[in-house]
Amino acid sequence: MPGGPKLLKYFNRLFESGADTLKIRMKIEQHHLSINPYSRSGKLLHEVKTIVMHWVGNAGSSAEANRNFFESRKDGRQGYGSAHYIVGIDGEVIECIPTSEAAWHVGSKSYTVYTRSYLTDGNPNYCTIGIEMCHPRSEGAFTYATLFAACELAGSICEEHHLNPYRDITTHKAIVGWKDCPKHWCENPWELQSFQRKVAGSMGL
Ligand SMILES: [Zn+2]
Repeated sequence: MPGGPKLLKYFNRLFESGADTLKIRMKIEQHHLSINPYSRSGKLLHEVKTIVMHWVGNAGSSAEANRNFFESRKDGRQGYGSAHYIVGIDGEVIECIPTSEAAWHVGSKSYTVYTRSYLTDGNPNYCTIGIEMCHPRSEGAFTYATLFAACELAGSICEEHHLNPYRDITTHKAIVGWKDCPKHWCENPWELQSFQRKVAGSMGL
């Protein structure tokens, strides 16, 4: 798999040249979790209404390391939690859970008005797809390589499920209200709008 500083430089150049509509086919590596109650229940999604973006919150960690953390939860000692995809710092993408199944990425005791009124399925885990993004530093800004790959990934999910990127891509924070995830986007809300625009561009909208 390509990676490292060379690939990052390449992405930075593309991004800075305003290549909004460039189609770059990201390679998605399927490395599915074992079926277990804590990170991959095997329960099916009821429908796909929204894509929820997250940060991993563990600066400098790789997509593979985060996938393995989800896998390690199967023994039940580290609580519940997972996501469908993890996008790494160099733009690598790991699919942890097939998108026909639910991931445990937005469970909460309370939800926002948006979730209660729009994602009215009781538990938004059953109608959302979760994408985790890795980040090099603790302040949580994402690399261009991560943003590019996440954009391509989100665009393909939007196309498959007939989602509108402006309406149907949101943050963990917008779902639960209390969690600052992804941190950098909570502190810089225009970053989500910019991402939605890039996804729309990648879809030719
Ligand atoms: Zn999150």
